[in-house]
Amino acid sequence: MQWKNQLTGMKPYQPGRSIDEVKKMFGLDEIVKLASNENPFGCSPKVREFMENLSINHAIYPDGYASALRLALANVVGVEEDQLLFGNGSDEIIMMISRALLQPGVNTVMATPTFPQYRHNAIIEGAEVREVPLIKGAHDLQEMALQIDESTAVVWLCSPNNPTGMLIEQHELEEFIQKVPKEVLIVLDEAYFEYITDSTYKNSIELIKDHENVIILRTFSKAYGLAGFRVGYAVAQKELIAKLDPVREPFNNAAISQGVALVALQDSSFIESCRIQNESGIKQLEKFAKEHQLHIYPTQGNFVLLEVKADSDLVFEGLLKKGFIIRSGNAIGTPGYIRVTIGTNDQNKEFLQKLADVL
Ligand code: PMP
Repeated sequence: MQWKNQLTGMKPYQPGRSIDEVKKMFGLDEIVKLASNENPFGCSPKVREFMENLSINHAIYPDGYASALRLALANVVGVEEDQLLFGNGSDEIIMMISRALLQPGVNTVMATPTFPQYRHNAIIEGAEVREVPLIKGAHDLQEMALQIDESTAVVWLCSPNNPTGMLIEQHELEEFIQKVPKEVLIVLDEAYFEYITDSTYKNSIELIKDHENVIILRTFSKAYGLAGFRVGYAVAQKELIAKLDPVREPFNNAAISQGVALVALQDSSFIESCRIQNESGIKQLEKFAKEHQLHIYPTQGNFVLLEVKADSDLVFEGLLKKGFIIRSGNAIGTPGYIRVTIGTNDQNKEFLQKLADVL
């Protein structure tokens, strides 16, 4: 096999413009990044305190089993310790699942648009990607079920879905899981779980008790405000976790990352306050959308997909010049829309003023 022929046409992940890059480009001192759904409030003050008094021996390898974090998280999630798998971000777990289960000759089913890493990893592994368009921003589970055949290895569900923010309804999810053969792995990516306020949402961890082929992904990168530390995790029945664990790098979570995640878990009031402030931020954006007669998807995440009735690349560029980094819909499969992370109330207010100027 010629190395030059491998992965032809694949591009590396492009995270969008960095704060430093934009500062330099436009000679600006202050940049607000609302592009990657990070937490605008940072992380728990307990984590900051922990960082100031660090006592970790960085000369030795971290605990490859993340024992302390595992025990604490098992208690918080309400599962056994051997039902958890940690990744260097949930990105790494998506890679582990893909590496373990996808290969040429098998297919994988997902929505479109959705989080691009499912597709990216499937292509690296040489699997066929079957993409099912969203209906009004939501997963079309009926059509997704029809796309499953005897060669399907993995189905990816993202709830709330990035980039629309829409939740998969509980009864639809349950019906779908019943329909899918148990040989097919169902991945339910709940990266934005902590932000969900919909009262019909039932904790999906319950699903894994009855379904050996369901795995749930969550992360410390979003509401916990620890994206820079790279800690994500998966929850499933222990047999499934044991199957995936050999694919994991032996020391995939840095000692410091395990430490901060453990401390962050102890501060549920921080998460609660972020959820409340996020909800109020969503209302600011919804009000703007209504006033300007722009469509906005009903989000359950910490971001919104907002119609701009213009070329979203131009809106993106216009906002960049004014010091706001957001995502253009052209880059994420939603032309005519922009995806914006909910900031602090002040950031949202300023952002909406700038957006009104460029529209
Ligand atoms: N899943 C979804 C739906 C996401 O939006 C993201 C981050 N943008 C991730 C997974 C990856 O998160 P991380 O690797 O930081 O845990």
